[in-house]
Amino acid sequence: MSSKKIFPGDSTNGSSGPPDYVTFKPCAHIQQVLASQARDTVLRNYSLGLKVSLLSSNKEVSYKNLENGTIVDHKKILKLRSKLLKCKSCSNNCGLLFMCLQCSNIGCFKRNHAFNHAKSAGHVFGIESNNGHLYCFRCGDYVSDPKLEEVRIAHINNSNNNVQGLQVYPIETDKKKKALILSDSRAPSLRASRGLRGFVNMGSTCFMSVILQTLIHNPFIRDYYLSGKHLGCDKEPLSCIPCCIDDIFAAFYTMDENKGFGPTALLTAAWKVKRSLAGYTEQDAHEFWQFLLDEMHKADILLLENKTEQNNQKKIENDCPCITHRTFSGELQSSITCSKCRKVTTTIDPMLDLSLEILQQNRKVAGKSLPPIRQMNLLDCLKRFTTPEKLDVLYNCSTCGHKTMVYKQLKIKKLPPVLGIQLKRFEHLSTSAKIETHVTFPLMLNMYDYILHDHDHLDKIETDLTYELFALVCHIGSVNTGHYVCLVKNRDGNWFKFDDSKVTLVSIDEVTSTKAYLLYYIIHDLSS
Ligand SMILES: [Zn+2]
Ligand SMILES: [Zn+2]
Ligand SMILES: [Zn+2]
Ligand SMILES: [Zn+2]
Ligand SMILES: [Zn+2]
Ligand SMILES: [Zn+2]
Repeated sequence: MSSKKIFPGDSTNGSSGPPDYVTFKPCAHIQQVLASQARDTVLRNYSLGLKVSLLSSNKEVSYKNLENGTIVDHKKILKLRSKLLKCKSCSNNCGLLFMCLQCSNIGCFKRNHAFNHAKSAGHVFGIESNNGHLYCFRCGDYVSDPKLEEVRIAHINNSNNNVQGLQVYPIETDKKKKALILSDSRAPSLRASRGLRGFVNMGSTCFMSVILQTLIHNPFIRDYYLSGKHLGCDKEPLSCIPCCIDDIFAAFYTMDENKGFGPTALLTAAWKVKRSLAGYTEQDAHEFWQFLLDEMHKADILLLENKTEQNNQKKIENDCPCITHRTFSGELQSSITCSKCRKVTTTIDPMLDLSLEILQQNRKVAGKSLPPIRQMNLLDCLKRFTTPEKLDVLYNCSTCGHKTMVYKQLKIKKLPPVLGIQLKRFEHLSTSAKIETHVTFPLMLNMYDYILHDHDHLDKIETDLTYELFALVCHIGSVNTGHYVCLVKNRDGNWFKFDDSKVTLVSIDEVTSTKAYLLYYIIHDLSS
């Protein structure tokens, strides 16, 4: 699969950062720098960085030679660009590169050279090579400032702006759109809602709607259904859940209708398989996600077995070829270290997503109330998840024979193409409770710090570890009477809020200020 297929129609193509229409929030770090003596240098460097970044790899922008008025070949632009833009540490010139805001360093994101520079030189801002957005390595996210944004917009809008002797202007072309339409095997109607459709709430069924939306807008799942992969199923429609999902895809991508869809068939099929889903009590969206994924796995395995009768069972067990596992499965390594002899015992478990603890707003330790935690970051949750922890129980070490204290540490051994993260907001102890702590999260997530770095296979680090957020589910209200909504990035890179049958365009600010319960990230650069 080429990187362009991640979000076809995305104006900046799959290998670049967030699209151009985005405006980010200022962070304390950038404000501090702009208030200091470094302001002039920073603004000058930002301007320079923008000039280079605007020699974009976007084919829909053409360049005219100002001397003779001829259009400059796109290949020449790319050559010029790759000459100017190279990681100073590894000479890598593809993927995301960051130009330092405070010095002349250029570092790549892929091999963490940009981050290393931020760490060692204390220069925490990088200008993204593809669109001139500013990344703060302290915040782990894109940031902006009204002054910087003014400079950036001026650069983009100023048509007389002379970029390396070239003038920038976009050439209209609908070739890409045509190719997109042709690429869908089901040839959708031109007026089709293209996935932007809500679900009618059929009595506390929002837990189901939000999960369906995250699957409908998941490029892997979408490609699977839209290319007719489940059409070979010969089960009775109302007894096969993936068949019902298939119908939903047809209704969402090939019909002119954009009124809310009533998922009656899926609801009926789901009730048949899982009795506990019946009734009008609010269900947990994460449990429903697991349930749907399992149903998709079972149905797909059946289809694959029918197709290749002699396919040996072993292969399927080790590395399941079904759509669920190809999309979501990864591996988690847990290692137990004996505190006496330091012997490490490791086990590897499959994972479909990560479930992360969040610190409670009102914590009590030994009867004393600790100061409330109003906000934490997803990176903190991931860090806690992968930090060694002393276990409460003593272990009999088989190596040194001592009954002793042990440390346990989790690391991700294999990352999936789509990384699901559950923030454990619900506690079901003697009573059910919901943790309301706001957990901030980055739009681009680098997983480098949380994976297992296998020193025998250093080449593994070469693979891209950057993930891009494309969907999130949030729960509003109390444990039993709440409501689910979800936010999803569509094919064009715009964010939409799905609240039952209501679909609205939302700003990036609204996305990042959401109290997320489930987050779905997709690997940023599939071509690597
Ligand atoms: Zn590099
Ligand atoms: Zn620097
Ligand atoms: Zn910052
Ligand atoms: Zn089926
Ligand atoms: Zn499977
Ligand atoms: Zn031991």
